[in-house]
Order: sequence, then structure tokens, then C-alpha cells
Amino acid sequence: MRALSEVDVVGVVGAGTMGNGIAQVAATAGYDVVMRDVETEYVERGLDSVADSLDRLAGKDALDEEPDAIRDRIAGTTDLNDLADADVAVEAVIEDLDVKRDVFEDLDRVTDDDAVLATNTSTLSITTIASATDRASDVVGLHFMNPVPIMDGVEVVVGERTDPEVVDFAHSFAEDLGKETWEADDKPGFVTNRILMPWINEGIRAYDEGVAEKTDIDRGMKLGTNVPMGPLELADHIGLDVALDASETLHEELGDRYKPAYLLKRKVEAGDLGKKTGRGFYEYE
Ligand code: NAD
Repeated sequence: MRALSEVDVVGVVGAGTMGNGIAQVAATAGYDVVMRDVETEYVERGLDSVADSLDRLAGKDALDEEPDAIRDRIAGTTDLNDLADADVAVEAVIEDLDVKRDVFEDLDRVTDDDAVLATNTSTLSITTIASATDRASDVVGLHFMNPVPIMDGVEVVVGERTDPEVVDFAHSFAEDLGKETWEADDKPGFVTNRILMPWINEGIRAYDEGVAEKTDIDRGMKLGTNVPMGPLELADHIGLDVALDASETLHEELGDRYKPAYLLKRKVEAGDLGKKTGRGFYEYE
């Protein structure tokens, strides 16, 4: 496995919402980036998104360099072989296990043996994706958040076979892109989507069942729980197809998650009601 100091070239597979954002933050951090999609049109669209985003950030004085200098570090391609020099490859194609496994089989063949292979999957198993390669120990989850240039966090997901050094590398690499990280085991949805997707689906159901107008559902959750976006707005922002793919995986893997949690009932019975009693899931002075 390569040390972070040896990384010059970052490969990105997929030039959509997430792929072009990942390419942008890698180029902004000074790396040369090769971004691949299946059609020239999609590659061009991804490059245009990067250009628009960099111009917006430059307008807010948020860049240390001219946007063109950053943009020029990103090469677009439709040929996966152009990722041959990638020291790290981040996959951000559609949330489909077969498609991702094909991409990883190809990445395994095309890149050097010591390149780190990362997936941006929202819900799919890192271990299953990694098993399409002959080097599962080099495969890790690097789950960027949307929009990538704006969101501070990256979830590092550890597969069954992921080498601990690759996990450390993943944290350091994400930090080098200006992000903060947390770590999750390879369980469906990891931390974020395991919790977020039921919330979004419940918002959609509440709308569908006439609990409130859609704007009131979003306003209620924002004003009532201090989140920046309500569930319907957030679903639109994620992409409803992406949200559905993620929800279907979670449903298949986790089943009915809507009953009150057993631990919640047990804590209430014990009188551990949270801040007001000094103890809930945490302890308070
Ligand atoms: P998207 O639909 O915007 O982009 C996916 C891109 O992948 C498309 O441009 C498509 O042409 C391309 N693609 C498909 N097959 C390919 C292949 N074999 N090689 C190269 N490119 C290929 O989707 P997105 O929102 O960018 O999501 C990408 C991944 O990131 C998914 O796994 C998704 O679950 C995950 N993710 C999405 C979000 C979000 O909010 N949208 C957040 C975190 C993670």
C-alpha cells in the first residue's frame, strides 16, 4: 500500500453528483485527477459542474488558487485504462452492486498492486464489492457527503478484509482533502444512511398520508429539530433514485426498522430519561 506522501494521482470513477465533487476536492488539495464516466457527454457535464462550483467558491474567496489552475488538474476520460497511474481510485458510479463489482474488477486489473481502491457506496457492502478483486485488503469505503466541496465529513467504512493500514490511509487521505472523518463497520447503511434513510422515508410517508403539507413537513423538521433541510428537500438533494436504491438495500438487509428500539424501552423502564435525569445514552452533570 502506498503512503499518503507517495500519492500524486487520484482516479475517480463516475462523473455524476458525487464523482465530480470528489474530483474537485482532490484537485483543490493539489492532486492530479483522472475522472472517468461511460459517455463523453457525462464526463463533460461533470467537468462543467466542477467549473461552476469552483467559480462560485472563487466568488466567495474560498480558494487559494485561481479556479482554472485547479480545473486544469482534472483530466476527463471514458477509458478506464487512463486510471493506470492512480495511486488511489475512488469509485462513485450508480448504487448497483453488479456495476460496482465490475468496476472494481477492472480497477484491480488496471491499477498498480499497491494502489488503494475506495468506494463511495451509500449502503452496499464494502466486503462484497471488495470480493470482486484479488486484493480485498486494499479496498475501503470512503463515503463522501453531498455536496462534496461543502460538506465537512467523510465516513470511513471498514470491510471484513480491509487492512488496518488502508483504514489509516483512508482517514489521512480524507483529512488531506480538508475533511473530518469517522469510522463505521461494514454493516448496511453504515452510520449515516442507516439512520438517515428511515427518517427520509418517514417524511415521505407522512406527506403521502396527509399528515401535513410538504412544505410544513420540511419546515417542521427544520424549525423543530434544527436540521438544515427537511426530509423531502433532502431526498430531492440526494437524488430520489439514489435514495430509493439505498432504501431498497436497507430494507432487504435490515427489514422492519420502525418498531421502538428495545434498548429505548429498557432505558425508559430504568428511569434513564436523558439530560433531565442525568443519564440517557450519555451521562450529564
Ligand atoms: P449520479 O447518478 O449522479 O452519478 C453516477 C454516475 O456514474 C453517472 O454519471 C453514470 O453515468 C456513471 N457510471 C455508471 N456506470 C459507470 C461505470 N461503469 N464507469 C464509470 N461511470 C459510470 O449518482 P451519485 O449521486 O453521484 O452517486 C454515486 C455514488 O455515490 C452512489 O453509490 C451513491 O449511492 C453514492 N452517494 C450518493 C450521495 C448523494 O447524495 N447523491 C451521497 C453519498 C454517496
